[in-house]
Amino acid sequence: MAVLFISDLHLEPARPTSIDDFVHFTRNEAREADQLYILGDLFEAWIGDDDDDPGLKPIVAAIEALTNSGTVCLFMHGNRDFLVGETLCIDTGMRLLEEFETIELYGEKVLLTHGDLLCSDDVRYLELRRQLRDPAWQQEFLSKTLAERREIAAGLRQLSQTEMAAKTEEIMDVNEDTVRETMRRFGVRTLLHGHTHRPAIHEFEFDGHDARRIVLNDWYGPGSYVRWNESGPIQKTLRAAKN
Ligand code: MN
Repeated sequence: MAVLFISDLHLEPARPTSIDDFVHFTRNEAREADQLYILGDLFEAWIGDDDDDPGLKPIVAAIEALTNSGTVCLFMHGNRDFLVGETLCIDTGMRLLEEFETIELYGEKVLLTHGDLLCSDDVRYLELRRQLRDPAWQQEFLSKTLAERREIAAGLRQLSQTEMAAKTEEIMDVNEDTVRETMRRFGVRTLLHGHTHRPAIHEFEFDGHDARRIVLNDWYGPGSYVRWNESGPIQKTLRAAKN
């Protein structure tokens, strides 16, 4: 019995190996778990639930098979797949989470978030985020043809790459004050997130108590996840064998 956490898989048809790894994961490690939390950036890009790209189908089918097998799947938006909507959730059986969620794991209160909101030094990104999360912008975007949306999404990815190349490592990591403010706001001593692609379990003192910040790994290398059972959280990499 365990709860698993993944994020930042950045799955896309152009990288079929990662899709194979994910499908394998849903048939093995995740199937044996009670719950799977997908904390954003499952997809490299998501331009709408009506996307007919056949390369995405194995991912959707794998999640549907996983939820049908009895593993509860919960999905949180990342900065790449914030347009995942109700239709995909109904098709796959995933439950959509808010941008911050507090859960209880074996008696411990844990705050979950994708992680981009913790990177508060990245002012330009947060400005862009406000625009992309504006319901009016989203409605207009979704009213365009798939071809038009693909073009806009490609432009945004290009912009993101150019911007990231010009930013320092510090700007793209979490801001420690924001981490503490957020943990205080939600009354937790444990925070679990992804986004920064800097896997770790940071232990620190927080308001006179022991606190932890658990950071998920990306799937650009071998896929990995955090497994949490009665003994606590542990970082794991995927089993090597393929089906
Ligand atoms: Mn991200």
